[in-house]
Amino acid sequence: MRAIVVYGVSAVALVGLGIGSLFIGGGKSTNTDPAAVAAKPAPVEATAALAPSSKVQVTAQAPAVQPPQPAPMPRVAEAPCQTPGALGVGRVVEIDTSGGPGFGFQHFKAYDFLNAGEVVLTFDDGPWPGNTPAVLAALAAQCTKATFFSIGKHAIWHPEILKQVAAAGHTVGSHTWSHADLSKKTPDEGKDEIEKGISAVRAALGGPIAPFFRFPTLRQTPEMVSYLEGRNIAMFSTDVDSFDFKIHKEDQLITSVMSKLKKQGKGIILMHDFQHGTAQALPQLLADLKAGGFKIVHLRPKSVAETLPQYDAMMSQEIKGGTANAKPTNSVVRTVSE
Ligand SMILES: [Zn+2]
Repeated sequence: MRAIVVYGVSAVALVGLGIGSLFIGGGKSTNTDPAAVAAKPAPVEATAALAPSSKVQVTAQAPAVQPPQPAPMPRVAEAPCQTPGALGVGRVVEIDTSGGPGFGFQHFKAYDFLNAGEVVLTFDDGPWPGNTPAVLAALAAQCTKATFFSIGKHAIWHPEILKQVAAAGHTVGSHTWSHADLSKKTPDEGKDEIEKGISAVRAALGGPIAPFFRFPTLRQTPEMVSYLEGRNIAMFSTDVDSFDFKIHKEDQLITSVMSKLKKQGKGIILMHDFQHGTAQALPQLLADLKAGGFKIVHLRPKSVAETLPQYDAMMSQEIKGGTANAKPTNSVVRTVSE
């Protein structure tokens, strides 16, 4: 299914705001690439479910084991916007990540889902003290929503900030464990970086995350793209790269983003909540987007990201500083004299 199908179900909280929902069909419900299939670490639930004529045969002798469906992404209850004239959210789209669709025309050209004047806000490399909360405050002041691609290590270091991101109704995806350039890694190392990142962000958040991924520095390889397709994880490149890791002056950053956007007319904007300059520039940038007549599109996943147990176990160790199997303190250290 490659067409974009509009359907009439809106989240209850959004009805009052008049926000429609859009379903973007994941393009490849059946992945026939042998390499990708071989790389699949776990049964891919959506594939079997979407393809009644799939090659999965259940014999009379074997117990009929139905792989579980990916759980639907829970919705955060949202209060109506109290700020008159705020930028807000023009449209919410739900993305079916089965088959690992790619978005952002810099690398992926299959799905042109934005209308003229529509913008998706994305922030990479957080969560980070100071800057991420400032980005959240700027977004809240305009009642608008974004997608955050968090680094696993940063999520483990600052889980309380990551929780604020999710609690505010933003979408949280992942951006590898340590921001490694996957084009310089072996496929096994790349898989570890991806999976540790997903498990770390999920563990730090303490709840489900989106099966949304962005390659560090946008460097992808065919092997890793196939791997993510097999894992039913959507990949996000960009349409408007802010280069905010180079442009630190607020006015220059705003001018750069707005001029690129006006030229292209729409797009997924790549920014970094890790960058101080971006956090400082965001209130004015959002005001300029509003003044320029742009509408924000909020991305949501249809289903949650499914983590792999061995990486979850690894991350559980990380969170506890490698002491997950420690005995209770009072059974190890006992006061014998005071
Ligand atoms: Zn990054």
